[in-house]
Amino acid sequence: MDSSDKIKRLVRPEIQALSSYHVPDPGTLIKLDAMENPWSWPESLHAKWCTALESVSLNRYPDPGARELQAAMRRAMDVPETAAVILGNGSDELIQMIIQTLAAPGRAVMAPEPTFVMYRQLALVAGMKFAGVPLQDDFSLDAAAMLEAIAVHQPAVIFLAYPNNPTGNLFDAGVIRQILDEAPGLVVVDEAYAPFTAASFMPALPENANLLVLRTVSKMGMAGLRLGLLAGAPDWLEQIDKTRLPYNVGSLNQVTGCFALQHKSVFDMQAGMIRQDRADLYAGLQAMPQLTVYPSEANFILFRVPRGQAPAIHAGLRDAGILIKILDGSAPALADCLRVTVGTAEENSAFLTALGALLQDS
Ligand code: PMP
Repeated sequence: MDSSDKIKRLVRPEIQALSSYHVPDPGTLIKLDAMENPWSWPESLHAKWCTALESVSLNRYPDPGARELQAAMRRAMDVPETAAVILGNGSDELIQMIIQTLAAPGRAVMAPEPTFVMYRQLALVAGMKFAGVPLQDDFSLDAAAMLEAIAVHQPAVIFLAYPNNPTGNLFDAGVIRQILDEAPGLVVVDEAYAPFTAASFMPALPENANLLVLRTVSKMGMAGLRLGLLAGAPDWLEQIDKTRLPYNVGSLNQVTGCFALQHKSVFDMQAGMIRQDRADLYAGLQAMPQLTVYPSEANFILFRVPRGQAPAIHAGLRDAGILIKILDGSAPALADCLRVTVGTAEENSAFLTALGALLQDS
């Protein structure tokens, strides 16, 4: 039975035009493509974690408000007392909830580009317009272009990834403050990479009624858990919470999240190692004269290879057993660009050796 006619007729054209979020199968490759923490938990924690999981009554629904986990997340992420929080199944789900709360035909979601692709994808899925404002050549915010686009599009919400993915840099905090002053709607500062930078807008929540701050435990070392946090003014979060599906954070996640955050020092230590290894990886890339390497405050580094060589270098690394992300072809500003996640020191040096050999051959 062929459904193509029905699909053409019933699926909204903007959804037909999208591609789903593609994640390649890593097989046995060294995985440096998805901003994961390369370190797992120490053995001693594993045994205690399993004991904690045994206490879960899976026949019962989870605590719908995930109260204990909320309290632990607030403490771990330094959420100001006056702010409210909502937990999500990853911060992706929270981005979707914010957009659904504001969605109406003709209304715009805005973000500088290139940035995290889900802002655009989820805006289009919700039937909204997406206004992307190009970053400057060094990937800094173009303040004048942002303010002009705000005046033209009157966006219901602006997303600023801080640090930005896939470029790795922090936007100028003064320009973000200007955007907060000029925006007619919400401004979401997405701090997914918070463990790897000292900068944060979390302390600015009390004096900015239209600011929301987004966090996740994914990059900290629990990408498999799917747990994010949204913090902001209680009146806004009360509205956004209406779009949340009941029990969106399962009992196993609640118990695991609480347990993990009791041992947050382990993750803080790992983040410290990743920041150090990022400096070594950056230096290693900079030592290759064929590359342009972009400074990073996140757990990945963006770099540009000689014109036209990105697909061959990406494939050559794969043949050498290493998976990184190719961004060439995804946006004009990312032509010839590749992105590598900071792995263990051994993984990073295997990557640098393989890349060095490919650049010599080219
Ligand atoms: N925000 C940014 C800027 C990201 O780069 C990502 C993941 N790549 C996310 C949010 C989503 O993270 P998660 O859903 O794992 O919390």
